[in-house]
Amino acid sequence: MRHCNSVFSAEDIWFLLDKDNYTNRRIYLANCPICNKKIALLSFFDKNTNSFIEQYFYSGGATRIKEKYKKDIISTMLGFKYKYKAPSGFKYGINKEIKKNGKIIALKQYACDFSGNKALVKKIDV
Ligand SMILES: [Zn+2]
Repeated sequence: MRHCNSVFSAEDIWFLLDKDNYTNRRIYLANCPICNKKIALLSFFDKNTNSFIEQYFYSGGATRIKEKYKKDIISTMLGFKYKYKAPSGFKYGINKEIKKNGKIIALKQYACDFSGNKALVKKIDV
């Protein structure tokens, strides 16, 4: 992805369902490391024109494009990663308190294994 004259990789990629003559639809998501703007790159193959299209969206536009396309998600890169990194083998649980102004407002329960993998099991609002 590109912004501010720099090239950086996506923090997440959404793989979307094909729609009409649009295939290979993907949304690449990242924050620009220079200006920290939210960036979404929509890319797809357009069978009508036999061409590969890339469209950039920034800030509010990036948020809107995520809202618009999230119903079409088949899978996401982070989704796969989370699955892959899920704790395995012997597990233990830890609770983490979420505090606001010194008051506990929520409890997060994690399942952990001894390779340092951690998965959120439950969030309890207090
Ligand atoms: Zn930038």
